[in-house]
Amino acid sequence: MNRQQEYVLRTIEERDIRFVRLWFTDILGTLKSVAVAPAELEQAFTEGIGIDGSVIEGFTRVYEADMVVQPDADTFQVLPWRERTARMFCDIHMPDGTPAPTDSRHILRRALDAAGQEGFTFYTHPEIEFYLFKEPYEPAVGPVPVDQAGYFDHVARGDGHDFRRGAIEMLEQMGISVEFSHHEGGPGQQEIDLRYADALSMADNIMTFRTVVREVALHEKAFATFMPKPLALHPGSGMHTHVSLFEGDANAFYEPGASYELSTTGRRFMAGVLAHSREICAVTNQWVNSYKRLWGGGEAPAYVCWGHNNRSALARVPMYSIGKGHSRRIEVRSIDAACNPYLTYAVILASGLRGIKEGYDLPPEAEDDVWALTDGERRALGIDPLPQSLGEAVAVMEDSDLVAEVLGEQVFDFYLRNKWQEWGEYRSQVTRFELDRYLLHL
Ligand code: GLN
Ligand code: MG
Ligand code: MG
Ligand code: MG
Repeated sequence: MNRQQEYVLRTIEERDIRFVRLWFTDILGTLKSVAVAPAELEQAFTEGIGIDGSVIEGFTRVYEADMVVQPDADTFQVLPWRERTARMFCDIHMPDGTPAPTDSRHILRRALDAAGQEGFTFYTHPEIEFYLFKEPYEPAVGPVPVDQAGYFDHVARGDGHDFRRGAIEMLEQMGISVEFSHHEGGPGQQEIDLRYADALSMADNIMTFRTVVREVALHEKAFATFMPKPLALHPGSGMHTHVSLFEGDANAFYEPGASYELSTTGRRFMAGVLAHSREICAVTNQWVNSYKRLWGGGEAPAYVCWGHNNRSALARVPMYSIGKGHSRRIEVRSIDAACNPYLTYAVILASGLRGIKEGYDLPPEAEDDVWALTDGERRALGIDPLPQSLGEAVAVMEDSDLVAEVLGEQVFDFYLRNKWQEWGEYRSQVTRFELDRYLLHL
């Protein structure tokens, strides 16, 4: 055992921890947990704990597969909402000790290693949006927001306000720093922005964040949802992410005097994200419902373009980081709040790196509002639409060597199968829209 592992065992004894939850994430981004007694931990550190690995394939169980979860001692935290309980994130191994190809953390780590080969570390800073609805949810009534406030509204003693404070305190107790929080555009919609961290820690933080937010909401007799577009008439929930590459201590995107202070590396990275945005869309926006957000307005991007103040753009160079040197970054706005953050950050990074390696040219900056242009005008400017449905996104992804490489063949195949199945089930529905529109008229 190493020193960090010994520290964990000591802390467990000192704080009288009874249960240690071992957390890992399935391919679709669902958090999984197995609780172990403290007495089992030494073995968990040295040998790991056996699980049926098919649980990490999401909804489709393909075959029973023995795998081993091994806690990462660096991620040890005591849970503030549960008596004498702590958690650690895990790496997943095959019985022979090699990394499991289906482990989301492993997939991201492999992408980070590829960046490391080029001398880069990858940092991310997400703006996480979600809705708070009243509990209990009654399907016949539909989701009822906890308030009727809007963008940046200050709601005195409002549910959202108390809620955000509770959530932020709990996140800070778990070592996750929050930078900003405010009411978002929709009724009951909130945004909390996490302070930047390396992408692997951040993906872990996002998984923790979702759990904390759900826990705190339940205390307020509400439930939180990260569903990309819960209300047809209000904005969806994105997870815009500010990204940057560092070379040692230096921000590789920063170049004083360059346009927007953005270096050639930064421009090529953004060009890569744009060029590959259609084929990675089934990862960054993985649900049928994701496409209701992308194509439902509300400042979500639907077209592949970039800008600086342009809130309809897929990528943006935020002006408030101008003049701040090392905080020069690119905001990727397509990502939604219900993605698997490990896989999402892996495909974004790989897209950007490919842009750098192959020297992609950044297309010209887009008009202020690309929604206002006609299809013909957009075509003339070379601005492509993002996929309009999960079906289209999966079809585009099928031909992507980039996504196949990032996910690995096994996960790539599994993912496509899983998403075709979701799309097929959705297509077979007869919806409320169709009944309202056709039943009495045709
Ligand atoms: N909710 C919007 C989205 O889905 C973003 C709104 C904003 O932060 N400006 O992307
Ligand atoms: Mg924001
Ligand atoms: Mg926002
Ligand atoms: Mg934003």
